[in-house]
Amino acid sequence: MIRENVHRPMTTTDPIHRNPHLPFGDQQTSPFYGNDILTVNQFSRDDLVYTFGVAHEMREMVTRVGTFDLLKGKILGNLFYEVSTRTATSFATAIQRLGGSVIQINEVKYSSVAKGESLPDTIRTMEAYCDVIALRHPEVGSAALAARYASKPVINAGDGVGEHPTQALLDLFTIVEEQGHVDGLTITLLGDLRYGRTVHSLARLLSKFDVKVHLVSPPSLRMPANVMAEVLESGLSPTEHDTLNGVLPKTDVLYVTRVQKERFANPADYESVKSSYVVDEETMAMAKESMTLMHPFPRVNEIAMEVDADPRAAYFRQMGYGMYVRMALLAMVLGKA
Ligand code: ASP
Repeated sequence: MIRENVHRPMTTTDPIHRNPHLPFGDQQTSPFYGNDILTVNQFSRDDLVYTFGVAHEMREMVTRVGTFDLLKGKILGNLFYEVSTRTATSFATAIQRLGGSVIQINEVKYSSVAKGESLPDTIRTMEAYCDVIALRHPEVGSAALAARYASKPVINAGDGVGEHPTQALLDLFTIVEEQGHVDGLTITLLGDLRYGRTVHSLARLLSKFDVKVHLVSPPSLRMPANVMAEVLESGLSPTEHDTLNGVLPKTDVLYVTRVQKERFANPADYESVKSSYVVDEETMAMAKESMTLMHPFPRVNEIAMEVDADPRAAYFRQMGYGMYVRMALLAMVLGKA
């Protein structure tokens, strides 16, 4: 399944190996122990196999016992400067399923951020109380900035239009669970590829595999040049399209995204592209019987609700997989996996 020759060199965004205190019982050999998770580029194919193996174990344990004490006594700081439903709640659930607890800051306007506190100061405050921090922030590079100031692991839970690494990991886990493998698949990313951070991370992750990728978007919402340059360098050659019809019949995984209204400077520009694609029963009739339909959610109008009953619609299962992957990541960075 794994294309061995694709292994990115370490870059400045790679995890900081910071030799933290090692509480008794922590497994110092855990590959991400004490590290930040800032970008999918930190994950080699071997790391992905390892992470998904741990996620599988988490799934089994949750099915068998629901909650268990692997991270008993550990506290997650969930610091969200932008709205979130799935990421915030699945991180909170993940730490609690592992016997730990969470400090949730959803509305930074009720914290000292509203008094003008800087991100570095807020992060240093949170780490005084927590063992690991999940950060969502509107600015690209904010998680990396936070990680420079924190001595505890920082997990990027979405940095503006930059990356959303834990989402891409759960997206890839979903593909493995639904399709059984990754290599050899034709994967189509549809919608707002310019502002959608989930597809920026997913495209980078897919470039580690032997897959065919189609990118379908309005011309104004194409994948950014820097992401394209990175994936091309990794040996992936995505093709760009305005319409879905030509690529749909050969697609094994259709990954639909929302047009990211909040990223548009000019509302008229959003209005002109907001309904570019709608996946409905008619669309699904042209797709493979074995296709997997994914969406990171929230959905606005890009997948009709009539499609939800189609067994190929995997987006609600995808949300569930997210908890197992985030449980795995928390256990890994805290040295218990
Ligand atoms: N929930 C995802 C994100 O935070 C996708 C979206 O908002 O459209 O990026």
